Amino acid sequence: MIYWCDKCKEPVFDKKSHELSCSGRLKKLSEGSICNPVFLQERKLLSKIVGRDLTDKQIWYFGSSRYLFDGEVQRISYVEWYKNNEHLKYAEELRNDIEVERDYSAYMGVVKANEAYIKGLVFEAEKYVLDTYTEFSTGKYEDNKYIPTVSFSGGKDSTVVSRIVRDALQDNTVIHFFGDTTLEFRETYEYVTQKFKQENRMVPMIPSETENDFFKLAKVFGPPSQHERWCCTIFKTSNLNKELENLPGNSLSFLGIRHSESLARKGYERTQEHSKISSQINAMPIIEWTDYDVWLYILYKNLIINDCYQYGYKRVGCWCCPNNSDWSMMLTEIYYPDDMQKWKEMVYAFAIKTGKTDPDDYYKEGRWKTRRGASGLKVKNVTIMDTACNLSDTARNIIIDKKLNIDVLELLKPFGDLKIVEKKDATYIQVYDNDKTGEYRKCFELIITYGTNVIKVLPEERIDVTNLVNRIKCQMRKYQFCIRCSACDSVCPHGAIDTIHGKYKIDEAKCQHCKKCIAKFYNGCIICDKVAGKKES
Ligand code: SF4
Ligand code: SF4
Ligand code: SF4
Ligand SMILES: [Zn+2]
Repeated sequence: MIYWCDKCKEPVFDKKSHELSCSGRLKKLSEGSICNPVFLQERKLLSKIVGRDLTDKQIWYFGSSRYLFDGEVQRISYVEWYKNNEHLKYAEELRNDIEVERDYSAYMGVVKANEAYIKGLVFEAEKYVLDTYTEFSTGKYEDNKYIPTVSFSGGKDSTVVSRIVRDALQDNTVIHFFGDTTLEFRETYEYVTQKFKQENRMVPMIPSETENDFFKLAKVFGPPSQHERWCCTIFKTSNLNKELENLPGNSLSFLGIRHSESLARKGYERTQEHSKISSQINAMPIIEWTDYDVWLYILYKNLIINDCYQYGYKRVGCWCCPNNSDWSMMLTEIYYPDDMQKWKEMVYAFAIKTGKTDPDDYYKEGRWKTRRGASGLKVKNVTIMDTACNLSDTARNIIIDKKLNIDVLELLKPFGDLKIVEKKDATYIQVYDNDKTGEYRKCFELIITYGTNVIKVLPEERIDVTNLVNRIKCQMRKYQFCIRCSACDSVCPHGAIDTIHGKYKIDEAKCQHCKKCIAKFYNGCIICDKVAGKKES
């Protein structure tokens, strides 16, 4: 809830704490939880939209095209203006004269009017950080060392968490991991490597970058859509895993995730022991914070932020994300015309490849954002056949679609230790592993002749044949379809899988045969999901 105090002449977020120190009358302004400062550069754009000069006013954004200025909430609608390409008329002018406000003194009125409130929030968040850290470094956790880290994206939420964590732990050397999706705005890189750095010299910032090329993969998968967010797995989780391995302990990762960001995040617990990346604890100090809490904190602590917020972006993430609003798209067309052009060409090429009748419409109306399936890959049959084999009652022949070569051995490693004997006629592989009782013994044998398409499987009597065959099929689909998207790398809790450096490789020194990698993705490999002939809706 947001109020207006007629004495302070500022928005007020918490009635009770404000009334303790001020006798002004409070009038309700908005039921919402958004109240962002509108910085000068965005005010210039708003001025263009409304056709009069708003640059000298103090403006707050309330969400849904509502702005607070001159003491009241006013609607500024940009949609028609944008659809008519009016923004392109002013793009060059805006781009060539970027002004960034670093002095927040004009906003101190709002901080003063909400001081008791923000102090309470900060106290609670810092206490949570300290308590969580204490919990994971004592008692039953004492032996597994947990090292506090901050997951840093260059966005406002992680900027806030960075400061809260360092203040709470009284330690400016907490390690920050910057997960570079390679799709960040130029300003984000500038912020992470220079601006943030200059004001926070002690903070170690470790970049983790993917070696995948987004545009190359987009040619295979199609542009990401709200339903086909293939890039998140590949570009967001896989790299951090590798960096975390280098920590001399487990990571207690502090994240800037908040409930109010999206419905999907509503159910998140504040502290999570099981995350995508194992041996990692995720802790979210500002999980209950609203947008105005975050902005209030930024102003209160005088934190330097990513310049994108000055342009008017409400969120800063991948510049071409299908979840970006039209408002963001408009800003990107204004401030990053070259990137947008490249993106447009990619979407057009995809539209043509997948037989869209009107590629122009497909792009302009943002239809690519909502597509389901139909990645543009040729539909393939991902079924792998198996037949009975004469060698024993339970033996099976698994028939795959690609000639076997020595690379297939990598994909067998999760099953156990491989004892390989090369004979004249074939390669004989005995697979040893601990079974349920903990006894280490042979589980099954494989016979492979390189250059053919058949794997013979001879399970020991106690083994569930169907289950084993299905698992081998999952691995064979990886063998057939892997384009080294690196999603598998992030699945392995022991960092044993490496698909980035040329081939699908499993390091047997690291592999614990936990088998988590085998059926993590539908049919064994992300690609199978895409090529298995889903219909577009
Ligand atoms: S573009 Fe969107 S969907 Fe893709 S990685 Fe970035 S945030 Fe995730
Ligand atoms: S097997 Fe599939 S999911 Fe795994 S890295 Fe290769 S392409 Fe990605
Ligand atoms: S997930 Fe990793 S450790 Fe587990 S079986 Fe696969 S490669 Fe081995
Ligand atoms: Zn007041």
